[in-house]
Amino acid sequence: MDILWLRHDTSSNSSYEDARLARLFNANRPDRHPTAIVCASTQSDIIKAVQLAKIFNLQINVRSGGHSYQGWSLSDNSVLIDLANYRELEVDVSQKETWVSSGMRSDVDLELMRDYGLMLGAGHHPGVGIGGFLLQGGLSWNSRNWGWACERVKALEVVTASGDLVNCSRVENSDLFWAARGAGPYFPGVVTRFLIQLLPAPKIFRSSGYIFPVSKYQEAFSWIIQITPTFDSDTEMTAVCRSLDGTDEICFMIFFVTMKGEHEEARKALLPAHETRPKGAIQEWFCQEDGLGQEYANQVKAYPGNRRWFADNAFLKNDADVTAILKDVCMTLPDQNCIVLWYPLAPHSRRTLPDMAFSLQSDHYVATYTIYDSEGDDDKYHSWIQATAEKLSSFRIGSFSGEADFKAREFKCWGDAQWKKLAQIRKKWDPDGRICYPFKLEALDKEE
Ligand SMILES: Cc1cc2nc3c(=O)[nH]c(=O)nc-3n(C[C@H](O)[C@H](O)[C@H](O)COP(=O)(O)OP(=O)(O)OC[C@H]3O[C@@H](n4cnc5c(N)ncnc54)[C@H](O)[C@@H]3O)c2cc1C
Repeated sequence: MDILWLRHDTSSNSSYEDARLARLFNANRPDRHPTAIVCASTQSDIIKAVQLAKIFNLQINVRSGGHSYQGWSLSDNSVLIDLANYRELEVDVSQKETWVSSGMRSDVDLELMRDYGLMLGAGHHPGVGIGGFLLQGGLSWNSRNWGWACERVKALEVVTASGDLVNCSRVENSDLFWAARGAGPYFPGVVTRFLIQLLPAPKIFRSSGYIFPVSKYQEAFSWIIQITPTFDSDTEMTAVCRSLDGTDEICFMIFFVTMKGEHEEARKALLPAHETRPKGAIQEWFCQEDGLGQEYANQVKAYPGNRRWFADNAFLKNDADVTAILKDVCMTLPDQNCIVLWYPLAPHSRRTLPDMAFSLQSDHYVATYTIYDSEGDDDKYHSWIQATAEKLSSFRIGSFSGEADFKAREFKCWGDAQWKKLAQIRKKWDPDGRICYPFKLEALDKEE
């Protein structure tokens, strides 16, 4: 076993405490203390860690990238298996597929693009762990056309709650394979590696952006909603309501990132938006040279770690009047620490999902975030997140588990039948409740 820390010294600069908090994205850290932390660097380390938990009758928790907003990887009376040092990438160029270990981060795409001209289509933020990302479905680049990243998972290897290493695919342990594509933190085992179908990497990235004063909200939002469903299929769009960088002026921002083979194709793709954009942007740029590295840098700046975060989200009904529903929220944004994001998923949202645990989506993904520093502001920002969730509740068909705070309110992240099936799979593979889940299952299972 590589490195093991035991909970005997919790002072702020102890090795245990460093290991407990390593890579946790949110500075609002749970006061939960694993009994032991194992820093695994091989599959056999993971098996030994699970056996250790069994011997001492402890639960098992996992940290891949540490980017769950609520620090799910931390639980009391548990062995935390930290996978950061378990790094494997085994590319088969002829099959355009790769084995990738859970501890790799989303920025593995830079390596895949540079060395193989291929891409996994991982998270937008470079530090998001492959383990948590794929288990939750994976809202990847250009999801409105490329779909959910978990749809590209072909097989996986899992250390079960009883400590066995098993292969999972459509033909072997197919129930675990089904669960791994969407169960998120309710998956009953430790995924060591995934086999993923890769995408051909785009040769170039180009972006356009239009930043409007919030007074242009109605016009700008109606425009982007109208052009999205039939817009170029290599282009990702996002609308964000937040303050302009370095100021407290709330703005409505629309971003396009197009991924193509050459500049002229990108220009043609972005032109219809440029030609129809509403007048009155404070800042705008058209078909600007961009790249995945630059996009990661933008994400790190716009969504910084080591600050206090709350997050919530909703898939809004396809026919919801999103502009009207979010108007009040955007117009009354409390301050520069609050963000509303709209991420369109059409046309993929109109396709039938494969049979897997991930089972809810709609045309409109809306997320709300607060990013701030002082613990004294927790109540204020949590109240805003909660009040906004309440305003969206009658238009919401469900939520994405990747940005859900299961302790804050009742979340529906799976179809009823899928949640029921997941509960059966958990009972089969984790009968003693050895794996930690972010919310007591009795409470959720009552709904069945
Ligand atoms: C800044 C930021 C940007 C984000 N951007 C995106 C995005 O573009 N698309 C998207 O889909 N999501 C995004 N997310 C959400 C993110 O995917 C989820 O929070 C996910 O849980 C993070 O995975 P992780 O491995 O880093 O998390 P961790 O905190 O390490 O893990 C979270 C939980 O997942 C489970 N888990 C993780 N790894 C394993 C494993 N190997 N085996 C079994 N269970 C495991 C465990 O229950 C664990 O407690 C973003 C989050 C942040 C903070």
